[in-house]
Amino acid sequence: MAFDINKIRNDFPILKQQVYNKPFVYFDNAATTQKPLKVIERMNKVYRETNSNIHRGVHYLSDITTRDFEHARETIRSFINAKHDHEIIFTPGTTSGINLVAFSFGEKFVSEGDEILISALEHHANIVPWQMLCKRKGAKLRVIPMNDDGELILDEYEKLLSSRTRIVAVTHVANSIGTVNPVKHIIKSAHRLGVPVLVDGAQAVQHGRVDVQELGADFYVFSGHKMYGPTGIGALYGREEILEELPPYQTGGEMVDQVTFEETTFNRLPFKFEAGTPNYIGAIGMAAAVEYLQETGLEEVAVHEKDLLDYGTGRLSEFEELVFFGRAKEKISVLSFVLEDIHPYDAGMVIDKYGIAVRTGTHCAQPVMDRFGIRGTIRASLAFYNTREEIDRLCQAIRKVIQMFK
Ligand code: PMP
Repeated sequence: MAFDINKIRNDFPILKQQVYNKPFVYFDNAATTQKPLKVIERMNKVYRETNSNIHRGVHYLSDITTRDFEHARETIRSFINAKHDHEIIFTPGTTSGINLVAFSFGEKFVSEGDEILISALEHHANIVPWQMLCKRKGAKLRVIPMNDDGELILDEYEKLLSSRTRIVAVTHVANSIGTVNPVKHIIKSAHRLGVPVLVDGAQAVQHGRVDVQELGADFYVFSGHKMYGPTGIGALYGREEILEELPPYQTGGEMVDQVTFEETTFNRLPFKFEAGTPNYIGAIGMAAAVEYLQETGLEEVAVHEKDLLDYGTGRLSEFEELVFFGRAKEKISVLSFVLEDIHPYDAGMVIDKYGIAVRTGTHCAQPVMDRFGIRGTIRASLAFYNTREEIDRLCQAIRKVIQMFK
């Protein structure tokens, strides 16, 4: 199917509105994406026609919803090319997926003196759970450094890997500055020492094809709301062999087999990790978002977004006052910059008045800002429904910001 930007924009009702009497421009896609009608209507249909709790009813509607939920799991499996459906655990999102692994893997495999390796580019969600684990166990958090362009220094990574390393946790794409990390290479090096790798895919799956088997990832986590699906749902992929070995994270209904007051046995995968009523309507909505992305064409999405990134980089470079952060050779969908000594928050407030949503601040990545010695950036994060005209509008607003504050 040809990539038709007008049709695509029509699929997203929220984009049609005016903000401050100006056509709305949404450049905060790394925080959350907007939802196509296909997703909204699919979830509506469940609420209106088939809603029933899953896996436990023998009745008609429960049966339909259970099938739709398990079909959603299969859709997510095929989206990232996992081997088995039961390797897909539904979670409330990326943060929950990382916490699950940090807790469960940490409980079983991490002890005093061990090391956990993360990178300088992580979102707080892929720092704090590991930090807490290290505190609980007396383990040490080590960090792969980055260079001034925002690329991880792989030689340093190789040096940090050792017999003490228990797990490596890295982001696929950095939300703050858009660097695409060479995760396949990172995984290969870790596997040479038998160390498993968790990849934070929150900013990756919506921008191009991800194949967890091809990457060799042991764990891969992402959120529905950042890939045109609903909030409150996400997925954790884990290789069967490793998931089988992990103890449960949260406990309660659904994740059990036999329960007595003395003893409990646990359900098989994936249910062992899905305690309580899962967000089944969220999962069905997330699967609809996957279908929408696949119908649009992930290759076409990547081409359009690359064009926007190149165009935006070129247009913004015209401002002498503008300094980019993140100049990695492999980079997607994020324009992160400051305007000389204008506070990013002041700039964001003015840009907002032109009907343009950007994010300002540290983007939940304070160590990235510290590395660059800045208090934050202005971040325009792109999606496939954005256009070159919208980038031109952003440039006009930036011109006003500079005029106003200089
Ligand atoms: N990791 C990255 C790279 C992110 O961009 C985000 C969200 N900004 C998260 C993790 C956390 O995702 P969520 O809030 O959906 O759990």
